[in-house]
Amino acid sequence: MTIRYIFIKITPVIVDSFGRKIDYLRISLTDRCNLACRYCMPVKGLGMIPRSEILSFEELERIIEIFKNLGIKKFRFTGGEPLVRRGVLEFFERLDLDNFYLTTNLVVPNLDIERLNNTGLSGINVSCDSLVREKYRYITRGGDLKTFLSNLERLRVPVKLNVVVIRGFNDNEIRDFINFGVSHDITVRFIEKMNFRTESTFVEYESSESDFISLSHMRNKLTEEGVLEEDVFSENNSVARYFRVKGKNVKVGFITHISNPFCNSCNRIRIKANGELKLCLFDRRNYSLRELIRREKNDCVIGEMIKDLVMMKRKEPHYAVSNETAAEIGG
Ligand code: SAM
Ligand code: SF4
Repeated sequence: MTIRYIFIKITPVIVDSFGRKIDYLRISLTDRCNLACRYCMPVKGLGMIPRSEILSFEELERIIEIFKNLGIKKFRFTGGEPLVRRGVLEFFERLDLDNFYLTTNLVVPNLDIERLNNTGLSGINVSCDSLVREKYRYITRGGDLKTFLSNLERLRVPVKLNVVVIRGFNDNEIRDFINFGVSHDITVRFIEKMNFRTESTFVEYESSESDFISLSHMRNKLTEEGVLEEDVFSENNSVARYFRVKGKNVKVGFITHISNPFCNSCNRIRIKANGELKLCLFDRRNYSLRELIRREKNDCVIGEMIKDLVMMKRKEPHYAVSNETAAEIGG
């Protein structure tokens, strides 16, 4: 009698206590930034995490390997501005990952775009909240739109452009951004402004008491007016709902965390630059993985502890306002 063995490869997976599959990790590489966008950075709050508390690249590589073995499929590096961190391109070049992404303002000085193109990144999200030079400078507290645009022209990695929509500031530029997406053949994604800890004031542009604007409403209006066609594209586990620009093969996305939250299908967790694990943007409980990896030598033990922590991810946030800056958490 012949005995046959069948080997079944078990793919690791983390499922939280509400049955959500967690397979996306966002990692903030630094809380420092060369800009200070008004909705993100408090003027005086740049780079508050002491350097000794920031995870080293070696620590990050170890953490990434642990999360990979737990079933994380997609990694995104963010910040602060990830590209201001010294050695970041070498770090990307060393990574052994199928799917890793970057979110950047793309205006850091002396940026080697050719090298960035060749690091193996699967995609880059770039942030730009106005196509008007003076307004861009205002919202970023000093950024140069021309530098952004010329760097964007030279990117050869799939790009999405993120726009945080602020009432009375850039809500009159929606169609300009859609046209920009068409002329540059890139996906533009409009994002609802969230409340992080900032000293945000849009005094010069404010037209109402609140600078929040519901994008669910705006999206419906653009569809009714025939600018966009109903969701013809869908991306697995994406927080954005995508529409097609009428008559063009170009996508426009809407991220409506506030007017239409997607907590039921949330698949993401975050690590702050100081190594704190964040289970939700608006959860005020953080867990220090830095302490854990600095004292524990066994990666399996750390993996088991992370799985236990993920079980504490809440169904939805308890707070509507974060007590941290977007730059600390990574947006
Ligand atoms: N510096 C990079 C950049 O600007 O792309 C990466 C870090 S930034 C914190 C990541 C994303 O968070 C950006 O697209 C930014 O526009 C977004 N963001 C920051 N503050 C936000 C807020 N209050 N509401 C919504 N999105 C925000
Ligand atoms: Fe810096 Fe990005 Fe925050 Fe702007 S949004 S201040 S570029 S981290």
